[in-house]
Amino acid sequence: MQPTSPTERGRVDPSEQSLSVPFFSQAASFERSWPEVERHLTEVARRGKYSHGRKVAEFEEALAAYTGARHAVAVNSGTDALVLLLRAAGLKPGDEVVVPAFSFVASASSVVLAGGRPVFADIDPVSYALDPESVAAVATPRTRFVMPVHLFCQMADMDALAEVAASRGLTVVEDSAEAVGMRWSGKHAGLLGAGGVLSFFPAKTLGALGDAGAVLTDDDRIAETVAALRHHGRFGPTLGDFRRISTQTAVSGQNSKMDDIQAAVLLVKLGHLAADIARRAELAAAYTERLAQLPGIRRLPTIVPRGAATNPVYYVYLIEVRHRDALAEFMARRGIGTETYYPLPLHRQPCFAEYGCPEGAFPYAEAACRHTLALPLHPDLTLEQVDYVCQTIRAFGEEEAA
Ligand SMILES: *Cc1c(COP(=O)(O)O)cnc(C)c1O
Repeated sequence: MQPTSPTERGRVDPSEQSLSVPFFSQAASFERSWPEVERHLTEVARRGKYSHGRKVAEFEEALAAYTGARHAVAVNSGTDALVLLLRAAGLKPGDEVVVPAFSFVASASSVVLAGGRPVFADIDPVSYALDPESVAAVATPRTRFVMPVHLFCQMADMDALAEVAASRGLTVVEDSAEAVGMRWSGKHAGLLGAGGVLSFFPAKTLGALGDAGAVLTDDDRIAETVAALRHHGRFGPTLGDFRRISTQTAVSGQNSKMDDIQAAVLLVKLGHLAADIARRAELAAAYTERLAQLPGIRRLPTIVPRGAATNPVYYVYLIEVRHRDALAEFMARRGIGTETYYPLPLHRQPCFAEYGCPEGAFPYAEAACRHTLALPLHPDLTLEQVDYVCQTIRAFGEEEAA
């Protein structure tokens, strides 16, 4: 083996690269369930109704049963789910929506697309979720909604946020795109306010064979309106019968319907969800055990103790390190894929310049963007791969300390 000096960091002897650990493999995620998925896909293809058909209705029913939602309305993506939910919850042009500065861009772009104005707030540095005190600080008389985002493995403090929302007269809509399986006081994420969304983007905890999403709500009127808006604004004849499409178009909607192929895949995957979530928890625990007290690591995922109120579900295993970009590069050279969720705070994104705030406005969101790194985590990851990832992080820390 060649000696590696600090100046050679990253030039790796191929014999050192013992394993390849992709951040996520879409094809691998289907390997176990493929025969079952294939059967359902064939059924859809032979039946000949490919969009908004029977599989979609079946999936909506199964998802409502799993989440306990009165209504699960299937759509084509988590992003469109957010746009339609905001419109259905009564967002009017110019209404302000408080959104955390540390999130995926769609949390705020959905507000703009629905005709509203995002108002950014800082996060709680432990849960990475919207800080209730910051919400109170940024809300104005024009603010009508607050959008908590449940990131990575746990929910925002929904009790404290409900209090702030009530005191300011704000409606809560949840970006629960990452939060399938998470519950708060017995209620599934998305059901703590007017409604929430799920994303079934392939890499999410419940992933489709392409893009898909859903709105969850206990509110009949919101469900009916989302169901109409996803289908060009065509309201069904009666409440609760929103799958029957009217020829009258009452409002301008969009085409955000779910394909039956995605619904068929999701029905199969939903059956494996509990086992997948358990496997994710096992792998997360393995990471935590191996990474505890390695040099260079500032923080491992911290589950905020909230009694029995909520349960962690590991969608992403996020660590905080001093030199994030150097570590990501070091790992990439050794065949390990990582992700940066999220590299730029939303208030510094060019598309939100109009609503933005100066650098330094939200220090916790900004620090999270600079120092966090997501490690590979999916049900098909092996413990051998976890070992290799952790050994590589250790090697980086040792080189850095030398
Ligand atoms: C994935 C995600 C979305 C968007 O979902 P898509 O299905 O990709 O449109 C929105 N918000 C958050 C927090 C997400 O992680």
